[in-house]
Amino acid sequence: MIPQLGLGRRLRFGMVGGGATSLIGDSHRVASRMDGHYDLVAGAFDIDPARGRAFGTEIGVAADRIYDTYQDMLAGEAKRDDRCDLIAICTPNSTHFEIARAFVEHGFNVVCEKPLTTSVADAVALVDAVQARGVIFAVMYGYTGFPLVREARAMVAAGELGEIRVVHTEFAHGGYTVASATGDAPPTWRLDPKIQGPSFALGDIGTHALFLATYIIGQQASEVAADLHSFVPGRTLDDNAHVMLRFDGGAKGTLWASGVAAGVIHGHRIRVFGDKAGLEWHQSHPNELLLLPRTGRPTVIERDTRGLSPASLHRQRVGAGHAGGYFEAWANIYSDIADVIAARLMNRPPEPLALQFPTVVDGARGVKFIDAAMASSQRGGAWVSAEL
Ligand code: NAD
Repeated sequence: MIPQLGLGRRLRFGMVGGGATSLIGDSHRVASRMDGHYDLVAGAFDIDPARGRAFGTEIGVAADRIYDTYQDMLAGEAKRDDRCDLIAICTPNSTHFEIARAFVEHGFNVVCEKPLTTSVADAVALVDAVQARGVIFAVMYGYTGFPLVREARAMVAAGELGEIRVVHTEFAHGGYTVASATGDAPPTWRLDPKIQGPSFALGDIGTHALFLATYIIGQQASEVAADLHSFVPGRTLDDNAHVMLRFDGGAKGTLWASGVAAGVIHGHRIRVFGDKAGLEWHQSHPNELLLLPRTGRPTVIERDTRGLSPASLHRQRVGAGHAGGYFEAWANIYSDIADVIAARLMNRPPEPLALQFPTVVDGARGVKFIDAAMASSQRGGAWVSAEL
C-alpha cells in the first residue's frame, strides 16, 4: 500500500536536462510517475533547444511550458501561480551548481543528480542557499531507496549487528576498461575534467558507494586515505580509486570505485560487520540481504512483508514473491520527497518514514569526500579530513 498525499491534486514536476538522448532522464520520469504523485508539466530538457522542444512535445508537455534554456524555464515558472512543486536537475555535473542555485534562490524545491557540484566551495554555497531559502532539496543517491537497504539501516540502528567495526563498500564496473578510441567505453563528458569534476571514479560512482555506507551505518566519514590512479593511458582523470575510511562513530572502512573492473557490468555492493553480526547486500540481487550472525546460520532476508521494519515496509507496491527493482527504489525516493512537499503545502508534519531521502548536506558531504580523497592521493595516501 502506498500512502496517499492527501493534497487533492498531483504535484507539478519539471525537469532540466534528461532529454531524449540522456542516460538518466527516463529513470526520473518513471520513478516520479510510479505512485501517481506527480505530473510532468514543464521542462528545459536538452542543451539543444530544438531537440528538447521535440522531446517535450512527444511526451505530452504543453508547448508553453517547454523551455529552450533553464533560465527561460526559471523565468517562466517563477511567475506562474501553478509553478512547479519540484524541479529535477538531470544535466552533466559541472552544470548542477548554477542551475540548482538559481532554482533554489527562487524558492523551488529541487532533486539534483549526483555529484552535487564539482567543488566543495559550490557545495557549501548550495547548502547555505537551501538553508537560507528553506526549500526541500534531495540528491539522487537512488540505491538508498531499495527496501532492503533501508532494512539494513534499520537493523544497524536497532543494534542487531552490535557495534559497527568494519565496512567494505564498492562500486566497480568494467565500462571503461579500455579507451574509447580503441574499445568499448562510451566517449562521453564523463572523462572530461571540465564537466565531470576532479575525479571520474569517485565523481561518477564513488559517492554512491560512500553514501550507501554512511546511510546504512549512520556514521559519517571523518578521514580518508586514498590511492587514485588511471590505468588507461591518455586519460586525464583517474579510472580507479581505493579509499580507506575512518568514520566518526569509530568504524573503519574501505571503498573501491572503478571503471576498469573488466567484465563487471555494475558491481555495486556493501559488506558491514559489527561485533554481533555482518550484513551483505548486492545491487544486482536487491531483493536479498544476507545476515551473518556471529554464531548460528546465515540468513537470507527477502523483500517480504514478514518481519521487516517499518522503514522498508512503508512503500511496498507488490506482494511477497514479486521482485522489486531499480525503478521502485527510485520511486521510493520520489514519493518520500512528495510527502514532504505535500506536508509543507498542507501545513502538516511529514510522515516520519518519508524523511529517508538523501539531502543537500548528503550531497555536499560526497563532494567533500572526493576533494579529500584527491588531496590524500596527491600526498601519497596521507590521512585527510573529510568533514564538511
Ligand atoms: P547525458 O549526457 O546522457 O544527458 C544529459 C542531458 O542533459 C542531455 O539531455 C542534455 O541535452 C541535457 N543538458 C545538458 N546541459 C543542459 C543544460 N544546460 N540545460 C538543459 N539540458 C541540458 O548525462 P547522464 O548520463 O544522463 O547524466 C546526467 C547526470 O545524472 C550526471 O550528473 C550524472 O552523474 C547523473 N547520473 C546519476 C545516476 C544515478 O544513479 N543517480 C546515474 C547516471 C547518471
